[in-house]
Amino acid sequence: MLNIVIFGAPGSGKGTQSAYLREHFNLEHISTGDMLRSEIKKGSATGKLAHELISEGHLVPDDLIIRMLDERLDGIVGKEGVIFDGFPRTVVQARALEDMLARRGQSVTALVDLEVEEEELVQRIIERGKVSGRTDDNEQAVQERLKAYHTATEPVLDYFGRGGKVIRIEGTGAIEAIAKRIIEAIEAFVQK
Ligand code: AMP
Repeated sequence: MLNIVIFGAPGSGKGTQSAYLREHFNLEHISTGDMLRSEIKKGSATGKLAHELISEGHLVPDDLIIRMLDERLDGIVGKEGVIFDGFPRTVVQARALEDMLARRGQSVTALVDLEVEEEELVQRIIERGKVSGRTDDNEQAVQERLKAYHTATEPVLDYFGRGGKVIRIEGTGAIEAIAKRIIEAIEAFVQK
C-alpha cells in the first residue's frame, strides 16, 4: 500500500495536490479539515466543538482528530493506499498514525513536504478567502494558523525525517508542474 502524508503550511497547496495524487495512484484522499468542515455543516457534537477553534486558527484536540481518522480508515475499499492531507499536525498525531497503520499491517510510505515562502502562503489564503467561504481564510486567522504550524506541526517533519521518509518539494510554480514533480519524486522514492 502507498500511504502518503502531504505536508506543508496552510496555503501550501496540500488539497490541490492531493487531487492529482489521488487520481494518479488510486488513493483514498483523507482531509481532516474537510471532515471537520462537514461535521460543522451537520451540526454534530464534533462540529460544535471544532467550529470556534477552526475559525480562530487553532488546532482541534488530538484525541478527537485521532478517533475520527481511525473510524474513517475502516471504510476504505478498492484503493492502493491513502493520501493523508492535513494530518498529522502534531507529533502525538504522527505517533498515532503509525500505530493506526501498524494495527492494519501497514505503514507511512513517505511524507511530501510542500515548501512555499511565508509571504506567498498569506497571499494565497487571502485570495482563497474571497471564494472559499472558509471562516479561517482571513488575515487574522492565518497568522494563528501559521503560529500553530510552526510550533505544533513543524516538529512532525523531524519525526518522519529521522526515519528517512521526507520528500521535499518546491511548492511554487504552475499547479500541474508541481504535481508532476511530486509524482516523479514519489515514484523515485518507492523504487529506491
Ligand atoms: P485544513 O483544511 O487542513 O487547512 O484544516 C482547517 C482547520 O481544521 C485547521 O486550521 C485546524 O483548525 C483544523 N484541523 C484540520 N486537521 C487537523 C488536525 N490534524 N489536527 C488538529 N486540527 C486540525
